[in-house]
Amino acid sequence: MRMSRLGILVGLIGVVAVLAVTLERGSDKRRALVITGGTVVTMDASGTVIPDGAVAIEGSTIVAVGTADEIAARYRASQTVDARGQIILPGLINTHTHAPMVLYRGLADDLALMDWLTKYIFPAEKATVSPEFVRVGTRLAALEMIESGTTTFVDMYYFENDIAEVTAEAGLRAVLGQSVIKFPVADAPTPADALARAEAFITRWKDDPLVTPAVAPHAPYTLEGTTLQATRALANKYGVPLLIHLAETKDEVKIVTGEHGKSPAAYLESLGVWDGRSIAAHAVWLDDADMEILKRRGVGLAHNPESNMKLASGVAAVPTWIARGLHAGLGTDGAASNNDLDMFEAMRAAALLHKVSSGNPQALPAREALELATRRGAEAIGQGDRIGSLEAGKQADVITVSMTGARQTPMFDPISHLVYVARGDDVRTTIVAGRILMNAGRVRTLAKEAVLREARAMADRVRKAVGMTAPPAGGKGDLH
Ligand SMILES: [Zn+2]
Repeated sequence: MRMSRLGILVGLIGVVAVLAVTLERGSDKRRALVITGGTVVTMDASGTVIPDGAVAIEGSTIVAVGTADEIAARYRASQTVDARGQIILPGLINTHTHAPMVLYRGLADDLALMDWLTKYIFPAEKATVSPEFVRVGTRLAALEMIESGTTTFVDMYYFENDIAEVTAEAGLRAVLGQSVIKFPVADAPTPADALARAEAFITRWKDDPLVTPAVAPHAPYTLEGTTLQATRALANKYGVPLLIHLAETKDEVKIVTGEHGKSPAAYLESLGVWDGRSIAAHAVWLDDADMEILKRRGVGLAHNPESNMKLASGVAAVPTWIARGLHAGLGTDGAASNNDLDMFEAMRAAALLHKVSSGNPQALPAREALELATRRGAEAIGQGDRIGSLEAGKQADVITVSMTGARQTPMFDPISHLVYVARGDDVRTTIVAGRILMNAGRVRTLAKEAVLREARAMADRVRKAVGMTAPPAGGKGDLH
């Protein structure tokens, strides 16, 4: 009896299985992760916007972008992200930051650059930067970036290998530059040590699908010419980018011109530093000839409006860059000089800054600000063929942004709202290479409470390092 019952059961399971396979084959639809029901702002070359649209993703790649009905007719969702009331947008690209510096967020504000650096940032870095410190800081930065819709970031710091490991765990895409500087620093007593560290770092990560390793000579005035040339040679040996700060302040231009008789951009040109893929941050003080050099060399420029305003560095000529065909992207810079990593704020700051500084309300319109954070940013970092827009064949780096709150109502133009109304907090979904890092506002790849707890503990070391012995009034340190 028992055997025959078992036989019937096995037979039934078999029938069901065959039926399921038949039904599966009966459907022509391919399986995909489908994000559907939102307004798709593709950021493609023709500026396509699709109301009630959808994006289909297979593996790490976008396979189709269209109306929700079109996508539903062609794809069977293996998983669905419901984006009703939201904008579906390419993930934002932060072209310049120092991720672990989130741990110095708000440590010292409203100071001149040299006071800020010598009294606070350098002493704090000297006493606190370690592999553990950059790991804790990068986890905090990654959490903030995922929560605010950044899917790719360009970084320059120390112990970059530890930053890369945390970035890979968090699932973000990044260009990570191991710093080289002439002073002894936490991870290298000499520039030669820093170069060796950079080479080991590049060798380890050069074939990674998400992390692009790079070498990051700090700036033209903090390195000898021969070391600058060595960083270029190293980058070209492995075909990786070189990241550098360029013409950030008037003082820098004065120092470099005084020592070398050339502007920072022309000095680096004379050394051959631009002879290969390069991303330069700030470029606030450029003349016409500098812009010609940077255009001819295809250098990507990272504009950091909030950092430039906060440190009173000046106003980069971004509308001119764009008009002259230079490659420009947008960045936050480190959180010590911003004080956050919110790319929505960076877009809004850029759009407003160039209007007030030029006296022209048409300068850097919303669409251009959004392009800097997406398509143009991707081109500036040499990845325009892979990311920066929602198009079939590109990597599936996608975010959704809620537009249903009081602050976003009504909505006449999604692009206007993304630049002039949205905040990082409005991001609901963050996907990198087809992997969902945040869904419905919940980050999946990092344990949020643990990340915040570790960061608060690390902040106590920072306080001690700068002689800030007593926690702020209230007695508990950070407000939890
Ligand atoms: Zn910087």
